[in-house]
Amino acid sequence: MNKILIIGGGPAGMMAAIRAAELKQDVTIVEKNNSLGRKLLLTGNGRCNLTNACDLNSFLESCSNNDFLRGAFKHFFNRELMAFFESRGLKLKMEENNRVFPVTDRAQSVLEILQKETAKYKINVLYGLNIKELLVKNEKVSDVFLSDGKTLLADKIILATGGASYPSTGSNGEGIRIVGRLGHEIIPLRAGLASMEIKEAYPKALEGLTLQKIRLRFHSDKNEIYSPVGDILFTKNGISGPLVLSLSGKVGGWFGGSQKVFIDIDLKPESDQAKIDSEFLALLQANPKKQIKNVLQLLMPDRFAAVLIDAAKIPGNKLASQISRKERTELVSLIKGFRMEILKTAPIDKAMITCGGVSTREINPLTMESKIVRGLYFAGEMIDVDGDSGGFNLQIAFSTGYLAGQSAASE
Ligand SMILES: Cc1cc2nc3c(=O)[nH]c(=O)nc-3n(C[C@H](O)[C@H](O)[C@H](O)COP(=O)(O)OP(=O)(O)OC[C@H]3O[C@@H](n4cnc5c(N)ncnc54)[C@H](O)[C@@H]3O)c2cc1C
Repeated sequence: MNKILIIGGGPAGMMAAIRAAELKQDVTIVEKNNSLGRKLLLTGNGRCNLTNACDLNSFLESCSNNDFLRGAFKHFFNRELMAFFESRGLKLKMEENNRVFPVTDRAQSVLEILQKETAKYKINVLYGLNIKELLVKNEKVSDVFLSDGKTLLADKIILATGGASYPSTGSNGEGIRIVGRLGHEIIPLRAGLASMEIKEAYPKALEGLTLQKIRLRFHSDKNEIYSPVGDILFTKNGISGPLVLSLSGKVGGWFGGSQKVFIDIDLKPESDQAKIDSEFLALLQANPKKQIKNVLQLLMPDRFAAVLIDAAKIPGNKLASQISRKERTELVSLIKGFRMEILKTAPIDKAMITCGGVSTREINPLTMESKIVRGLYFAGEMIDVDGDSGGFNLQIAFSTGYLAGQSAASE
């Protein structure tokens, strides 16, 4: 029986611990907080989008460094994760774009299953302890120095300390810095799945509004990307939602020089300008005595209609019969391309995930063991792998955690 120490009690660390304990090892988790899975409770707006039920190829397309992940997914992929929870009594449901949630709509119920398993296998959890340093002797991991001045010894160590986003949950990048000091290559950390701040005041009036089935065009002097069709959410001073989060990594890379970055929202991606114009004209003719703001509300949410009229500099109470051809053309152009300037993407501490981390070049993808330090394994967000919004990141954490736990137990 190996003595296995797992640093970090997030989804990756808990799954690593459960798998190693299932294989009859002596397992201890060291967690700096006084509870497990603090970030897990925030996921999916508290509902926990725990995985994505798409097929392997589509899944890999939604992840960076995806070749590295094949080994972990071979052992424990989305079907196995769903079976893990369902066989322990947690009912799951699938929503749009294959996103999987617990039927309870509560991340707490996902955490409860993991906690029950931890208790069932009598996994020892040391709360309120921070690891400060790891000692390596003869290229093998040896002692773990803790914040209380004590030292722990272990045969194998699994590091699962997460990234650097939402540091109030406990993951503040310290684990990654410790690994860097052991000689591992660290890919610089940057924000992933981040919201964007907008220069104009519109988001304030639109806060909380979701626009559905729209397309975005991000552009600057040198760059341009179109999003797929999807949803966008307005926040207090900007925009978020799946389309924005997914492209934030790329768009974030455009800042730095003097160029400005813009977003154009296409509210009707399935129709061209001429088609929208003729539909709009028909609506105006059918409702001549209605105010223009009320006619536009037939095409889009009320609050967005008000903003659009404001941007077109047309009084909202003007009657449909009084709208000139020029004004109609202007409104149609705004429906196809409502432009705002992006000031910046959210910084890493406010981003959902951390891109970068421990380089995959120095981790064995078949075991998650370090290629530099024997007996040291990695799991979860601290590794330089990340996925889109949609349940991909938690699956990465669970899969790499499972493989790290299994490898540490069996080698
Ligand atoms: C608001 C928000 C919503 C999200 N929603 C989703 C979603 O719906 N679906 C999805 O797939 N992903 C989502 N994510 C991403 C997902 O939460 C993470 O990818 C996932 O939690 C990573 O798991 P992990 O175990 O690697 O790290 P973490 O969950 O960050 O856990 C790391 C643990 O290690 C502990 N730790 C850190 N340093 C030390 C140390 N030195 N000593 C001891 N302990 C330490 C921390 O306290 C923490 O408990 C969301 C993230 C955020 C912030």
